[in-house]
Amino acid sequence: MTKIALITGANKGIGHEIARLLAGQGVTAIVGARDEERGRAAAERLGQPYVRLDVTDEESVAAAAKWVDDAYGRLDILVNNAGISGGHTAVTPSATTTALVREVYETNVFGVVTVTNAMLPLLRRSESGRIVNMSSELGSLSMALDPESPFWSANLLPYNSSKAALNMVTVAYAKELADTPIKVNAACPGYCATDLNAHSGPRTAEQGAAIAVRLATLDADGPTGAYLDDSGVVRW
Ligand code: NAP
Repeated sequence: MTKIALITGANKGIGHEIARLLAGQGVTAIVGARDEERGRAAAERLGQPYVRLDVTDEESVAAAAKWVDDAYGRLDILVNNAGISGGHTAVTPSATTTALVREVYETNVFGVVTVTNAMLPLLRRSESGRIVNMSSELGSLSMALDPESPFWSANLLPYNSSKAALNMVTVAYAKELADTPIKVNAACPGYCATDLNAHSGPRTAEQGAAIAVRLATLDADGPTGAYLDDSGVVRW
């Protein structure tokens, strides 16, 4: 049976590559995007369906869940990919506004909870539901505290703390769903050249997408509640 996947923020960047790679494996990769024109254009490029979805807008998320239900009756893979940086130029924590932190959390944390809760009834109908949350090494408390880590100096309060929170969100869902076939994992794509960081990363979006695709297509004996990159387990 053809697997059905929904990827949020799939009109560009890593999300677009996740959709492309999943479609290449025969998965129906629904392109979730907030902007109808750009979302439809991306879906057309990929030959995949489009659904409008703004992760910060509960109504649009509920409408997207209804659309998936009407079209397919279930969901096998949810990739919570949509994310924002809150600005990639470093601002000290003390100069960061609460409004910016709130804005970043609305997408990177609360948006994931909104989308996951809306899609869970559909994922429960799958024989092998998979949820992949796009995290970052910048969400690792261990690396943030390790002066030897390449991520030590990137002290970006809104983004880093949002991804640390997302890691706990991942663990919380994995624990609730431990007795079901649904696996919930956090993926680290590595530092990839995308609009998120003004294309400063050394990796490609396709390289970044690979770990998400692997976690989206895990076998029944694969991990849940894990934080992984291409090389394996990432320190929380
Ligand atoms: P990107 O090119 O900026 O793409 C971000 C995507 O998220 C876009 O499609 C964007 O849509 C979408 N988005 C943002 N807010 C949204 C909302 N409210 N509702 C729906 N979609 C929304 O960034 P990327 O690098 O591919 O990032 C993808 C994910 O990987 C993010 O979660 C990011 O934190 C994570 N990540 C990236 C890197 C990296 O080095 N690039 C490293 C670690 C983790 P619009 O086009 O409409 O803005």
